[in-house]
Amino acid sequence: MPQTDATRTEAIVVGAGIAGAMTALELRRRGASVTLVDRWEPGHARASSSDYNRIIRAISGRDEFYTRWVRESRLRWMELEAETGQKLYYENGALILATQGHCDWEDATAATFDKVGVPYNRFAADDIAHHFPQFLVPDISYALYEPEAGMIMAHRAVITAVNLFKKLGGVVKRGRVTTDNEERLMLDGKPLQADLIVVSTGPWMAEMFPRTVAPISTIMGINVLYTSTPDGDDSFDHHRMPCWIDHGMGSFGLSSVEGSGVKAAVVIPNEPIDINNDERLIRRESLAKTRTYIRKRLPGLVGQKVVDSKFQQVIITPDTHFIVDWHPHHKNVLLAGGCSGHLFKHGPVFGDFAAGVALREYGTADRFTLTNRRKLSPKESPSGR
Ligand SMILES: Cc1cc2nc3c(=O)[nH]c(=O)nc-3n(C[C@H](O)[C@H](O)[C@H](O)COP(=O)(O)OP(=O)(O)OC[C@H]3O[C@@H](n4cnc5c(N)ncnc54)[C@H](O)[C@@H]3O)c2cc1C
Repeated sequence: MPQTDATRTEAIVVGAGIAGAMTALELRRRGASVTLVDRWEPGHARASSSDYNRIIRAISGRDEFYTRWVRESRLRWMELEAETGQKLYYENGALILATQGHCDWEDATAATFDKVGVPYNRFAADDIAHHFPQFLVPDISYALYEPEAGMIMAHRAVITAVNLFKKLGGVVKRGRVTTDNEERLMLDGKPLQADLIVVSTGPWMAEMFPRTVAPISTIMGINVLYTSTPDGDDSFDHHRMPCWIDHGMGSFGLSSVEGSGVKAAVVIPNEPIDINNDERLIRRESLAKTRTYIRKRLPGLVGQKVVDSKFQQVIITPDTHFIVDWHPHHKNVLLAGGCSGHLFKHGPVFGDFAAGVALREYGTADRFTLTNRRKLSPKESPSGR
C-alpha cells in the first residue's frame, strides 16, 4: 500500500490520553489535518494517563526493543521540555531490587544493558545502605541502578502534548465515540468518517471492539497511595531518592516530587475493576498492604500519613506488548494502545511510530499486531511479570 500524503489527510484521533495525544501531535507535525476527540476533558482523572507521574526506565529484562525505545523516548521528553518550556522529566534514576531467588529478570536486564550500552551500576545490599539509606534491603541479592531514568510528570505531559497539538493547528473536540455491531465507529449516532481514524481509547478499547480487542485484553485496577515525608527531612525527595521496582514484594514506587509525597504502590495482586461504574477510591486493604510494605522496606516513613491516593486501571495484553494495528475490517481504522502498564514512558516514540504506521510510511512491528498473542513467562516478559 503506497504511503499516504499526510498534507491531504483528514485524520481523527479518538482518545486524548498519552497514546492519542502523542499520536495526534505527530500526525499534525507531519502535516495532516487532525481532530482529537475525547469523551471527557483531556487530563481527566479516569484515564490511565492522569496521575502526577510515571516512571521512565530502560529496565525491560531481555527485551531490547523496549530498552531502545525508552532510550530514544528519554531524549524526546527532553526535547518536548525544551520546545514547550514545561517541566516534564525529573532524572532521579531508577533502582531495581533483585530479591534473593527472584533475579532472572534483573540478570536479563543487566545483560541487555551491556548489549545496548545503557549506563548502570550494580550494587550489593551494603552499597544500598550507603547510597540510598531510605531502603532497608536485607533480602536482596543485588540491585541495579539506572541513573538515566526517572519520572515523567504524567498529567502535565498529557496537557502539554494537547496544548502543543492545538498550537500547531490541531483541533480538540468533546464527544463519545461508540461502535455498532460491526465495530464501525459512530459519533452522535452517525458514522464517524475521515481518511484516517486512530482509536486510542486505552482500557475502553476492549468494550468498543468486543471481537477484535476484548479477546486479547484484561482490565485491572491498581491501588496507589502517596505517603507524607518526615518533618524537616528531604531524604525522600526526588533529588535524594530514585524511583524503584521491587518485584519480590510486588511493588514499585516514586520518591516525592513537587510535594506529592512518596508513591508506594503495592500492585500484586491487581484488582478487578468495572471501568464505567466503579468509584475511583482505593480498596481499604491496600492501606494495610502499603503500611506493611513501608515497615519492611522504607522504615523512615513509618508513622507518616497517607496524603493522596489513586485507583486507576490498565489494559493488559497477553504478552504485554502494545497494540498498533489496522482493524481487520475497517481499513482506515488504526488501533493504537494496549498499554499493559508500561506505555507512558514511551509516549513520544509510541506517537511517532503510530503516526508513521497510520500514514503507511511503514508497517507495524510484529509484536504490535492483533493476532498471534501468547502469554509470556516472567523471564521473557518486558515487565518481568
Ligand atoms: C497505577 C499505574 C501506574 C503506572 N505506572 C507506569 C509507569 O511507571 N511507567 C509507564 O510507562 N507506564 C505506567 N503505567 C501505564 C501508563 O499510565 C499507561 O500505559 C498509559 O497512561 C495509557 O495511556 P492511553 O492513552 O493508552 O490510555 P488512557 O490514558 O486511558 O486514555 C484513553 C482516553 O480515551 C478516552 N476515551 C475512552 N473511551 C472513549 C470514547 N468512547 N470516546 C472518546 N474518548 C474515549 C478516555 O477519556 C481517555 O482520555 C501505569 C498505569 C497505572 C494505572
